[in-house]
Amino acid sequence: MLHTPYEAVIGLEVHCQLQTAAKIFSPESTAFGAEPNTNVDPVSLGHPGTLPVLNRKVLTYAIRMGLATHSSIAERSVFARKHYFYPDLPKGYQISQFATPVCYNGYVEILLDDADEAADEPATKRIGLTRIHMEEDAGKSLHDQPQHTRVDYNRCGVPLLEIVSEPDLRTPGEARRYMEKIRQLVRYLGVCDGNMEEGSLRCDANVSIRRRGSRELGTKTEVKNLNSFRHVEQALAYEIDRQVRLLESQGTVVQETLLWDADRGETRPMRSKEEAHDYRYFPDPDLVPVVITDALLTEVRESLPEMPEARRARFVDDYGLPVYDAAVLTEERAVGDYYEDTLTVLFKRTKGGNTQAQAKAVSNFVMTEVLRVLKEQGGTIADVPVEPKRLADLVYLRLNDELSSSAAQEVFEAMLTSAEDPKTIAKQQNLTQVIDKRAIEPVVNRVLRENKPQVKQYLSGKHGLLGYFIGQVMQRFQGAPDPKVVKQLLKDKLKAKQQAASQ
Ligand code: ADP
Ligand code: MG
Repeated sequence: MLHTPYEAVIGLEVHCQLQTAAKIFSPESTAFGAEPNTNVDPVSLGHPGTLPVLNRKVLTYAIRMGLATHSSIAERSVFARKHYFYPDLPKGYQISQFATPVCYNGYVEILLDDADEAADEPATKRIGLTRIHMEEDAGKSLHDQPQHTRVDYNRCGVPLLEIVSEPDLRTPGEARRYMEKIRQLVRYLGVCDGNMEEGSLRCDANVSIRRRGSRELGTKTEVKNLNSFRHVEQALAYEIDRQVRLLESQGTVVQETLLWDADRGETRPMRSKEEAHDYRYFPDPDLVPVVITDALLTEVRESLPEMPEARRARFVDDYGLPVYDAAVLTEERAVGDYYEDTLTVLFKRTKGGNTQAQAKAVSNFVMTEVLRVLKEQGGTIADVPVEPKRLADLVYLRLNDELSSSAAQEVFEAMLTSAEDPKTIAKQQNLTQVIDKRAIEPVVNRVLRENKPQVKQYLSGKHGLLGYFIGQVMQRFQGAPDPKVVKQLLKDKLKAKQQAASQ
């Protein structure tokens, strides 16, 4: 692709299931994984005579996302009916927004493909958001039996935000990072859990090809059914390749809706029946227009958490962290909270001192140990058995040189299966470092006395033996003395001997 005369143009339509307890227009539960057809009610089943009422939380979540993406918020927006016939849609129409979405003209920033993440200001690119609108989800068809399709209506009426991007993306990698950015935002805002496997975050990818330098858009195809970041990337790479080949062999791209077949690693056309395109949108007469007052806007604005970019900048400014550390620690809101909770405890214990060194020490532990465990065991950071307070205790011991770096790692490992505090664990496992020179000195003397031949060799120039002496000293301790102290003591003593010998 890089060397062909073509470039890809990509726009994504992302659906986020909102984390509200109730559905968008009725009080029924939205819980995922319930027995099929148990979270249903007359409104979401579209029974005649029922009336939908907008869940206020859905509106505040939509505004949250709009504000976080620099969107304009519509003072007045309208729900519309989008008609199509499908078994998972009992009303025969989906309540959505059409002419007037609740948010429009926003943007997010993503890293460019070749951006250096550790740079002070990694190269980013703005991706426009055409619109964000509220709508209800449809039910789910289960094609798991040879002769039948079964329908689960639990998902009917689950609130969704649809986020539509401008065709500003150019590569599968950019599309992936855009998705990741959207997921990061919805999770920071607490409006969606971002779980792609469970379908809380879903993506349809639109893609076309054009000659580099051209400003016109080519004919696009739309790939549906992308339920992981990897699928988004793979499906786009496949589709771009397919379209380029078509153009190169004098063919034309047909505008169509495709499905990504993850097992075969290819896209294929959807059955045309599933593609009925005249939705006959019209304003839903059952719902009043949504009017957003200044008071509501202010209320939502004031409830916004600190967003990732601002937090990253603050971590650099306040704690003196490298940009890379700050980016990793603020990637997820809960990780940033964990980090700061740990720092708070540590700062209290140290009562100041070199806060930058302390911040970096905690950062190292979180990035190498805590995030590793999180990755291995899955779940959230709250499931990692080392809470911020105990991590702070551990880092405190390390900063005071009471634990060597390898001993600190061992203690951390032990803390995963023990609720004891790190000091107790270190004592139990004899990992506490003997930092007292007075304790080490007699042992150094003894080692030198007991290894006369080696001392002689050392004095005649075989300085590589220093490591041997260090090893001998370390072995005679139960715990591990600080090798730096041992080394210094040995060097001093041997130097004194050398000087004595040459006199
Ligand atoms: P449709 O009417 O087919 O739904 P829209 O204009 O609503 O198309 O756009 C849907 C998505 O497709 C948007 O994310 C938009 O950025 C993207 N898109 C539109 N035209 C193109 C194109 N020619 N190539 C790639 N993406 C496109
Ligand atoms: Mg569309």
